[in-house]
Amino acid sequence: MTRTVRTTPKPLPTPLAMSAAPNEPTPSPLPIRPKEEAHLFKEEGRKKDGREEKVTSRPHPKPTFPTPKLRLSTLDLDHPGSNVFFSNTNPSKALSEAVDAVLSILYQPTKTNDHIPACRSVTLCLHAMGGVAYTTGSDLDGDHKEIHFSLDYINGIPSARQKDEVQGVLVHEMVHCWQWNAVGTAPGGLIEGIADFVRLKAGLSPPHWKKEGGGQWDAGYQHTGYFLEWIESTCGRGSVRKINHALKDKKYAEDDFWEQLFGKNVSLLWKEYEGSLDEEQKMTKKVESSAESHEKDRKDNAEMKEKGRKDGRSEGDESVEKDKPNDNLA
Ligand SMILES: [Zn+2]
Repeated sequence: MTRTVRTTPKPLPTPLAMSAAPNEPTPSPLPIRPKEEAHLFKEEGRKKDGREEKVTSRPHPKPTFPTPKLRLSTLDLDHPGSNVFFSNTNPSKALSEAVDAVLSILYQPTKTNDHIPACRSVTLCLHAMGGVAYTTGSDLDGDHKEIHFSLDYINGIPSARQKDEVQGVLVHEMVHCWQWNAVGTAPGGLIEGIADFVRLKAGLSPPHWKKEGGGQWDAGYQHTGYFLEWIESTCGRGSVRKINHALKDKKYAEDDFWEQLFGKNVSLLWKEYEGSLDEEQKMTKKVESSAESHEKDRKDNAEMKEKGRKDGRSEGDESVEKDKPNDNLA
């Protein structure tokens, strides 16, 4: 017969004692909070043998967009632009909304998302500099992007426009984190035009933007952005997605690129776009001249009323006469 000898085991060292170096500062312990129930499963009531039964089922996962790590880097908190930025913008929300806007306008999610460029993190860097903003890959890895945004520019935005202008610039720069560029051969104006097209579609176009013909189709920014918007409305929804996708792997060759996508070269598309602007401008002039003639009628009417008042007649007479329907018309 063997005898069991019971010994008290030595207490294991705590993980903290194992990992902390002797002089390393230890953060204060977290407060104890009641655990929240995780709602990972959807509950459904089902009848079985006349009895109610609770069945748990996991919903089918739908393809979703990638979710990059979002980071903020700023040291210049005493710059007046920092005060403007943080008074109007929640950076966490602003960056995540910018990612959502860009991905939903340029892509549709799939299981693998291998049609979307790799972008593992986006860091917003706020600092004093000339210009507005630029986007670059990080020094270590091109899949980690940095959006550099000028605090001097932010500080100069008129107060009524601060929130929307900051978000508009963030969306524009966020496009550069996710768009294809024909392995570096796409025209710069097309790249910038796609960025402003997305900003326009996200409802963040500034009030001074306007559609304009003349010049080159790839002059960039909103000039090209509105052209792309016209292509989207004329050649079909998703046309700009197609343009971006066609810039994925192949080098850019202008004639083939546009012919293959829309059956026409880009100069012809640009001419048609300019033609549509002429039509639009004619329509605008028509509306303006009709508004002007209406305004003239109103003034004439007011003058006649004033004259009538001076002549001793009642104030409303002229307008009653003028607006009275003709009873004789069938
Ligand atoms: Zn840009």
